[in-house]
Amino acid sequence: MAAQQHCDSLWIGADIVTLRDGRYHTIKQGFIAVTDDKIVAIGPQAEAASLQATTTHQLAGGIVTPGLIDCHTHLIYGGDRSAEFEQRLNGVSYSEIAAQGGGILSTVQATRNASVAELVSSARQRLAHLLAEGVTTVEIKSGYGLSLDAELRMLLAARQLGEQERVDVVTTCLAAHAVPPEFRDNAEGWITLICEQILPQAQALGLIDAVDAFCEHLAFSPAQVEQVFQAAQRLGLPVKLHAEQLSALGGSGLAARYAALSADHLEYATEADVAAMAASGTVAVLLPGAFYLLREKQSPPVALFRRYGVPMALASDSNPGTSPALSLRLMLNMGCTLFGLTPEEALAGVTIHAAQALGLAQSQGSLEVGKIANFVHWPLAHPAELAYWLGGTLPCHTVYRGVIR
Ligand SMILES: [Zn+2]
Repeated sequence: MAAQQHCDSLWIGADIVTLRDGRYHTIKQGFIAVTDDKIVAIGPQAEAASLQATTTHQLAGGIVTPGLIDCHTHLIYGGDRSAEFEQRLNGVSYSEIAAQGGGILSTVQATRNASVAELVSSARQRLAHLLAEGVTTVEIKSGYGLSLDAELRMLLAARQLGEQERVDVVTTCLAAHAVPPEFRDNAEGWITLICEQILPQAQALGLIDAVDAFCEHLAFSPAQVEQVFQAAQRLGLPVKLHAEQLSALGGSGLAARYAALSADHLEYATEADVAAMAASGTVAVLLPGAFYLLREKQSPPVALFRRYGVPMALASDSNPGTSPALSLRLMLNMGCTLFGLTPEEALAGVTIHAAQALGLAQSQGSLEVGKIANFVHWPLAHPAELAYWLGGTLPCHTVYRGVIR
């Protein structure tokens, strides 16, 4: 290192868990040097002697991890479904709830009735929980508007939230989430509207970073999803897919054919799906919150993902119906307990592999020179504690783009 290299800030006094290559790769008693919003040097503290920092932050032990990344959420929506949760546990059936206008359509109604400011405000309260536990990047999907106007308003709300809060927000258009009531017997008509109007307009307004769909018997067929993917491809937008959550339709294989960033859920993915994902570099995003709430029995094929070298991410899937999650850290425990991930795999799943699922692995997700200075200081002895503790609030300090948040 050149003598007297200067940096804006220097962080010393803790172990640095870098997550390079998806492993802990811990630097005992390390340092991180930051200039502007980038990491300019990192290593054992003994090597920091030649650094001149404008500000030096002496940490009192503990560990530093990359900022956490929640790569799959539905954080923007109107209302909530706690009353429906209570009804179901009082023995009211799904079909009775649906007949009363419950289920996803009640969220669609509440979302359509909310202003952009109201959508931002309610999502901000949920986001605050994620930020308090070290999240520095969050993906947010549309998909509860289910009309041209309401889908654009959801995406605008997500963009505004990212501008107002100190967090990176990545947006995804999930108009192909469900068939809106206006298209009840005309799913094809809705797919056409998505392809010909919603995606092009959202793209022209700069509101979307990626395109998603829900491939399932109760949602859209692989052929319908493929139309959406082709429209995304024409617009130069990357795709991802809710696939193989409740049955095996080959959605993840389809996603792989379109070089999808990720295929998400995947409880019913087959070996052929996994092989296709490995070949296309598609990340497996596992969502234990929905698995838990729906009391699913079939786990995603973690052993196959390992064998084929498919990177696994974990996300909150925060949504009002199947995963009203307010904690990404709880998902680390669920990923380990329900799916058998190791704590190291779980942490990689909310850092470097989550970054890869968002197409951001070049700039985020691990602590390496040249990456954005997003990191979290935890007063913990070992990173496995992040997956070990059930609930509670672990005190932490977050640095977002080089500045304490
Ligand atoms: Zn989802």
